[in-house]
Amino acid sequence: MELSGKKIIVTGGAGFLGSQIVPRLQSLGAEVFVPRKKDYNFVSYGACETCISEHKPDIIIHCAAFYGGIWINQVHPGRIYYENLVMGAHLMEAARIHNVEKFVAIGTACSYPGYLTGELKEKNLWDGPLHESVINYGLTKKMMAVQAWAYKKEYDFNAIHLILTNLYGPGDTFHIKRAHVVSALIKKFVEAEMAKQPTVEVWGTGTPIREFLYIEDCAEAIVRATQMCDDVEPMNIGTGIGTSIKELANLIHRLSGFNGEIVWNTEKPDGAAKKVLDITKMKQTLDWRPPTSLEDGLRKTIEWYRQNKSTADQRL
Ligand code: GDP
Repeated sequence: MELSGKKIIVTGGAGFLGSQIVPRLQSLGAEVFVPRKKDYNFVSYGACETCISEHKPDIIIHCAAFYGGIWINQVHPGRIYYENLVMGAHLMEAARIHNVEKFVAIGTACSYPGYLTGELKEKNLWDGPLHESVINYGLTKKMMAVQAWAYKKEYDFNAIHLILTNLYGPGDTFHIKRAHVVSALIKKFVEAEMAKQPTVEVWGTGTPIREFLYIEDCAEAIVRATQMCDDVEPMNIGTGIGTSIKELANLIHRLSGFNGEIVWNTEKPDGAAKKVLDITKMKQTLDWRPPTSLEDGLRKTIEWYRQNKSTADQRL
């Protein structure tokens, strides 16, 4: 699909991921509209209707989500369930009614069965229950894939579903209550370097393996998928590369300039042994692999964090 001249709504377009997608679409000649929550709260079906009838998009990229890691999940498990489920359902329904050409649903690797470890393949997405800690988020996002199938069958509606791995990069959340491992470690090492502390505590044994996708590469993958993918079956978006928490901590240790030592707190949980997405389908469909190495991505993220520390630390 040629994006030049297309009208595109990017929900969540002012957020961590969406704000990287918008300029890419604009550079391809698309006319992009970024709805703000105060003007259009997509939890209400009426807001979806109004936004789509006012802006008449050809394409909707639905990045908006209510989520924020362990802490938000403890305080607002119900809002996470309701807002994500209803936003996805309402937006896709309004898009169908208004004959939107394509709906790009942004999903999550939390949608995979919780007991699966290793390389997560799209064909195993429906094999079992989600991990209980993320079921209210992962399952509601996954419902967009069900809606897409059903709408394809009944209305020949064109929706795709992209399953994202762990993201990191400039603009990530660094608040202590919300940070995931990459931003949490960057914060710890940068602060330890600034305060000349002797040690930094890292959780677990260091052996778990995770996958980390640089935010700009993720945005590029989503734009490519918007152009090149028309398959209603979900597609993984990741690097396919596993990195141990030990390797990650060592890299951030070196790049942050911290001179002290790492102390491993094995009282803290490791979580799953290995979670990495299989990206065979992504490589074939997009004819592309994420170009940013973990080292380069971390360097840019550390640089950004140093420059934006006070605001980044406060933003929940
Ligand atoms: P997970 O991928 O769902 O397990 O979630 P996280 O991104 O929070 O954690 C990934 C891994 O990083 C786990 O094995 C943690 O034990 C490890 N880890 C090490 N230090 C930290 C830290 O300071 N914060 C977080 N969130 N995880 C850490």
